[in-house]
Amino acid sequence: MIYSTGNMNAEQKDSDCIFCKIASGEMPTELLYQDEDVVVFRDIKPLTPVHLLVVTKEHIHSLAEMSDDETPLIGKMVKAANKVAKDLGIAESGYRLTINSGADAGQVVFHLHMHLMGGRHLDWKH
Ligand code: 5GP
Ligand code: ZN
Repeated sequence: MIYSTGNMNAEQKDSDCIFCKIASGEMPTELLYQDEDVVVFRDIKPLTPVHLLVVTKEHIHSLAEMSDDETPLIGKMVKAANKVAKDLGIAESGYRLTINSGADAGQVVFHLHMHLMGGRHLDWKH
C-alpha cells in the first residue's frame, strides 16, 4: 500500500532530504509501518533478503547529533522494527538493527535511520 503520512511541519523537515520526502509522503513509497514518530520502508539497494529502513519523521542529522530529549525516539524505532520483523516472519530466525553515524560508519543519508536486516545468516561484518 502506498499512502501519505501527512502532518509534518516545516521545522521538522529538511526540503533537500530524501528521507524527509519519503516520511512526509512527498515521495510516494510503500510503507511497511508508520506511526506518529517513525516510518518503515524497504532499502532501495537491499544487502540482505530483508533490508528495511526505520526512519524518524523528524529530521535529525545523525545519531551523534541527537539531543537528550530526542533519545526516546530510539526506543520507538526499536519497537517499530521488532513489530515489522515479527510481521515479516524473521523475528525467530533473527535480524540485526544497525545505525551508522558519521563518515567512518558509512552514513550516506544524513537523516537518522536504523537498518533492519535479516532473512539469511549474517556474518558479523555482513
Ligand atoms: P546509510 O549508509 O546512510 O546508513 O544508509 C542509507 C541507506 O539508504 C542505503 O542503504 C541506501 O541504499 C538507502 N537509500 C538511499 N536513498 C534511498 C531512497 O531514495 N529510497 C530508499 N528506499 N532507500 C534509499
Ligand atoms: Zn530529513
